Amino acid sequence: MTDTSTLQSIDARTGQPSGESWAASTPAAIAATVAAASEASAVWAASDGATRARLLRGLASALEAAREQLVPLADRETALGTARLNGELVRTAFQLRGFADVVEQGAAFAVQDDAAVAGAPPVGRPRLTLVRVPLGPVAMFAASNFPFAFSVLGGDTASALAAGCPVVVKGHPAHPALSRMTIALAQRVLADQDLPAGLIGFVEGAAIATGVQLVQAESIAAVAFTGSFFGGTALAKVASDRPRPIPFFGELGSVNPVIVLPQALRSDVTELAQTLAGSICQGSGQFCTSPGVIIVQKDVAGDAFVNALATQLSSLSPHAMLTPGIRRAFDKGTRHWRETSGVRPLVADVAESGSTPRPCLVEVDTTTFVSDTSLHDEVFGSAAIVVRTDASSQAVEVLHAIGGSLTVTLWGVDAGTSAPDADTLALVRAAAQAAGRVLFAGVPTGVAVTAAQHHGGPFPASTAPATTSVGYAALDRFLRPVALQDAPAWLLDRDGVPC
Ligand code: NAP
Repeated sequence: MTDTSTLQSIDARTGQPSGESWAASTPAAIAATVAAASEASAVWAASDGATRARLLRGLASALEAAREQLVPLADRETALGTARLNGELVRTAFQLRGFADVVEQGAAFAVQDDAAVAGAPPVGRPRLTLVRVPLGPVAMFAASNFPFAFSVLGGDTASALAAGCPVVVKGHPAHPALSRMTIALAQRVLADQDLPAGLIGFVEGAAIATGVQLVQAESIAAVAFTGSFFGGTALAKVASDRPRPIPFFGELGSVNPVIVLPQALRSDVTELAQTLAGSICQGSGQFCTSPGVIIVQKDVAGDAFVNALATQLSSLSPHAMLTPGIRRAFDKGTRHWRETSGVRPLVADVAESGSTPRPCLVEVDTTTFVSDTSLHDEVFGSAAIVVRTDASSQAVEVLHAIGGSLTVTLWGVDAGTSAPDADTLALVRAAAQAAGRVLFAGVPTGVAVTAAQHHGGPFPASTAPATTSVGYAALDRFLRPVALQDAPAWLLDRDGVPC
């Protein structure tokens, strides 16, 4: 999109415009939206769990009621397919209701009370009551690849509202008409429940300035972002360069190593290869959890598995990618792999530009991979690099070289109760140091929304590795602890609900 002053819905399969274009948010409109969020902030922070839960459930029901309009529009703008998008809408409604349940159960209002102790310190102490207060308005950057679950009413919005914070959503220009339809639904729910319109604000634009103005706005108290390394690091800098810096919760990409231990290859390698190829091609590889680095030992069984993976991948046809820009980035990344010395192509037939992409699989030895940092970058799409190792200690080296990832998958660790050998223990330790989620079975695509989920990890998986953007702990990002010392009874009587 070259004209950044207007937005236009584009059919992702044909690249053709659909319907009229419209003007992006003006600086005055962005300022007014942030002001409305700021105005709604105090009343929402002081709201009880029942009020927040009613809103979250109302939003879930509104999404479901509009499914017949939302899903075809999302499909046209993203090419993700109606089956996937219906599932994503179900997940989005599920997580809105999940946050309704946890906030109703008091998750945002937990209190820790230390009674006063008479006498001199350090034993003697005043009464201290630890509560948490909502940070204030959250700027939320919708992602291109999840038009429901990480967009206008996605997990960041749900968790911020549950924590007691208004949100201002920066719509993603890859699905602008869907974003408009979704925010209109949200505004109707707010009006029906007599809640301020400023609780869920919306700004749109395809120019960098839109997001920058939002992050710089004085009343914005935190940022939630899912997207590219480049965009995320640029906006994180804007957040930290403000006169008053604010927290930036960014999820910037991940290569999600899968380590295939020799023990895993004692079973049917064709089935394993089919499962992994399906995960690499799911959603045309446009998942933050898509497996991008496959670590396999150099032996006969490893060769058989890698050949089977190449065969399976060759037979698959990923669908059109979300935007021409994302497609260009995929072509650039896979071309770089093919042109790098020491990298051998396994599946590398290139699709003509404009058509749907072909999957890409290449192979490299451990020494080349570890020493060439350009091979550690995520290639967003159906692409993976197989790293061949001599021993499991080399798999540890590969994990150290990669640094941070959302997930590490280990296939072939004994599922029994006896402790494994020292090499396996070292591998499990390295996996936990590298990732926010370690899988011992299955594939990393597919992220359950639960209390124990952790979707984050060391940088660049997350700019705030102690936090998660999926699962109910996501609301903790938007609450700040305050210790109340010898507080008056009326304040303690509020049971953690800020005044
Ligand atoms: P993106 O380019 O990072 O855009 C995400 C959001 O950030 C958009 O609203 C964009 O605004 C804004 N933005 C980008 N650069 C900015 C900057 N320098 N200053 C201010 N705002 C900025 O992500 P994308 O368009 O979804 O996809 C591009 C690449 O991101 C993909 O190829 C992939 O590598 C990666 N990606 C990763 C994930 C993940 O899950 N980690 C998800 C999606 C994409 P404008 O569009 O208005 O400029």
